[in-house]
Amino acid sequence: RRHKTSSLNELASGILAKNITALSQSITLIESQNPKHFEQAKTLIKTCLPHANKSIRIGITGVPGVGKSTFIETFGKHLTSQGKRVAVLAIDPSSTISKGSILGDKTRMGDLVKDDNVFIRPSASGTSLGGVARKTRESIVLCEAAGFDVILIETVGVGQSETTVHSMVDFFLLLKLPGAGDALQGIKRGIIELADAIAINKADGDNLDRAKIAQIDFNSALHLYPKNKSGWQPKVTVCSALRKEGIDAIWKQILDYVRITTENNYFIKKRNQQNKFWLIQTIEHQLSSQFFNNPEIEAALNAQIQLLENNKTTPFAAAELLLKMSS
Ligand code: GDP
Repeated sequence: RRHKTSSLNELASGILAKNITALSQSITLIESQNPKHFEQAKTLIKTCLPHANKSIRIGITGVPGVGKSTFIETFGKHLTSQGKRVAVLAIDPSSTISKGSILGDKTRMGDLVKDDNVFIRPSASGTSLGGVARKTRESIVLCEAAGFDVILIETVGVGQSETTVHSMVDFFLLLKLPGAGDALQGIKRGIIELADAIAINKADGDNLDRAKIAQIDFNSALHLYPKNKSGWQPKVTVCSALRKEGIDAIWKQILDYVRITTENNYFIKKRNQQNKFWLIQTIEHQLSSQFFNNPEIEAALNAQIQLLENNKTTPFAAAELLLKMSS
């Protein structure tokens, strides 16, 4: 009998045949830290690339407890009920910081996990945010080649992870909690600017009035920003992920966004810009890891640090000397 690990060809044809096991094994290969897998991962991505690019990529973020898991479960079900196939990927900064998991256990999305048209993949752990992000971008390619129509990329409102997710999605949805004063205080200005839509979740029961107030507040906050090149004015809605209310309105907004930005070419322009961004990022990453992993440079760097401490050189002179060594 053959070894149970599939060959690269089997993995690629499995992905194109929408086989979830092949997709899952392939993502594991991509996430592998073992250098002998790097070449294989590259080949696999190259094979899949011509079949990628056809999905809508949606970023979903919000503080812990805002209801991301619940929302993704309800939203995902809504999409599969319309015949869509949905992949859920996560970028969990806590898996790099504390090895814990802020995004939590995906088995909480009980109903969604059981759906044959859904693929859920938690964040790879143990590498830097940049490393996780690179792997997620490659996972997007594989999921698209496997015929997923909608890719949801979940992250938590911590550190740089929102910006990272923003750099790989078409549409960025920010989940917020009801509560007006708190809403305006809690605005991380930069994050609001990233949002294509804000949904005030938990707009149910006693929260409903506060949710409506938050909606008005966020709406006026959003109107402070100049209209961006997308031709899209970000929208604020209220929803209840728990009671499955306001969910279709959010999906319709996303479809509107895709229609408008496809017509004015912004959609493709943004994807091209993102590709360029990731190209540069990858080069910077490679250059700096080659530099810092060079033992000669490491020794020279330590020597320069000594000199710096004794006031015998300046940071700029030291940098120039070290960079000359590597060129
Ligand atoms: P996450 O940490 O952002 O993934 O949040 P969860 O999805 O785990 O939800 C946190 C808590 O909020 C859970 O107890 C959910 O049941 C609850 N929750 C989520 N969405 C809603 C909602 O729309 N309404 C209400 N009342 N509770 C919700």
